Amino acid sequence: MRYQSFLIKYAEIGIKGKNRYIFEDDLIDQIKIVLHRCEGSFHVTRTSGRIFVNADGNYDYDGVVGELSKVFGIVGICPIAVCEVLPYEELSKAVTAFFGEEYPDRRHTFKVLTRRLAKNYPMDSLELNAALGGDLLEQYPDLRVDVHDPEIILHVEIRDRVYLYTHVIPGPGGLPVGSAGKAMLLLSGGIDSPVAGWMMAKRGLKLDAVYYNAPPYTSERALQKVIDLASKVSVYTGPIYLHNINFTEIQLYIYDNCPHDELTIIMRREMMRIAEKLARATDCGALITGESLGQVASQTMRSLECTNAVCTLPVFRPLIGFDKEEIIAISKKIDTYDTSILPYEDCCTIFVAKHPVTKPILDVIARHEHRIEDKIEEMIDRAIATDEIIMADRGGSKILKERDRELPAAMRAKVQ
Ligand code: ATP
Ligand code: MG
Repeated sequence: MRYQSFLIKYAEIGIKGKNRYIFEDDLIDQIKIVLHRCEGSFHVTRTSGRIFVNADGNYDYDGVVGELSKVFGIVGICPIAVCEVLPYEELSKAVTAFFGEEYPDRRHTFKVLTRRLAKNYPMDSLELNAALGGDLLEQYPDLRVDVHDPEIILHVEIRDRVYLYTHVIPGPGGLPVGSAGKAMLLLSGGIDSPVAGWMMAKRGLKLDAVYYNAPPYTSERALQKVIDLASKVSVYTGPIYLHNINFTEIQLYIYDNCPHDELTIIMRREMMRIAEKLARATDCGALITGESLGQVASQTMRSLECTNAVCTLPVFRPLIGFDKEEIIAISKKIDTYDTSILPYEDCCTIFVAKHPVTKPILDVIARHEHRIEDKIEEMIDRAIATDEIIMADRGGSKILKERDRELPAAMRAKVQ
């Protein structure tokens, strides 16, 4: 195996002092979780601002790189060669041999970038850059030095041992999952909400999710699609607890009692109310939605004011300033797109009005909601009681808490 170790680079801005250790601990935990899935045995170490992944014996190189490149918090994965701290002559030989193996074709521009953390090494970094650069040119005459914009940077870090690398494989950036707490994602079967969840997980949030299902208007296949989407996002976030809530009774009640051009807004307010209750019960500190300004009538500024007004938790809408094309590009990158475009019906699409309000007025909406205030609280509690909890993981899903799938008799009558 050519590389026995990887140096893990992470962004250091804003994570100084005590926070830095918490951040590093979270990152190391996430790295250990993904390595667990890879062929081989590994240990993860940390020394002064660096995290190293060391393989013991044979391992699956592509598998490890593939897994690490999905760990939020990592900005670069550098496969490294390690040697002892050697006197200059021998060090130069080791460095030259390493470079020769890395780039058998030597028609490149390069520079050497040394970091000398072992201050007792007799040459300083500038001296080492110059001497090693000179030796490489002598050994490989096709090389050219370019200190400003080289094709290859040969990194030489002198610590307890010497670490050499030239490749930096990009990581996803962001912050380790969980380092920012946990939030509740409103996950529908569409393109937007899985992307929104992914984006907030990238900023360090662990995700729970809630899906509003309206059986028998929506099918088991629609539910399965949402589970599959959660599983796809979980490749980046770890297992997601998906709360499957039966929303039928509430939807029918709104449909029967409220103006139809306000259905979507009122329905969205009930979704947010339920999501907030679930969030508080499960230690989530925020809600996440896939809303994007102006995308549909329920996502105008006024509509967002109306949906926001029922929540006290912060609502994160990471896609608010994104065009659909930009959202689609991310959904393709994270592999949720093909699932999202499957045609199964969503509960929102069944009860939509032909001409929904685009500029709802909060007071008017609240007034019309008086018509449902009698029963809505108990319906919300009943909906929450239907909560079926599904653990969605990359390997599949598992029902953690079953619910009664039977509809109340009144609803069954309505449906026929
Ligand atoms: P998406 O593409 O994610 O379905 P959308 O463009 O269809 O979003 P809406 O239907 O207006 O937009 O929903 C806006 C947001 O509300 C969604 O991004 C999602 O966060 C949430 N949402 C909508 N429907 C549901 C549902 N059935 N269950 C859970 N959350 C939902
Ligand atoms: Mg939708």
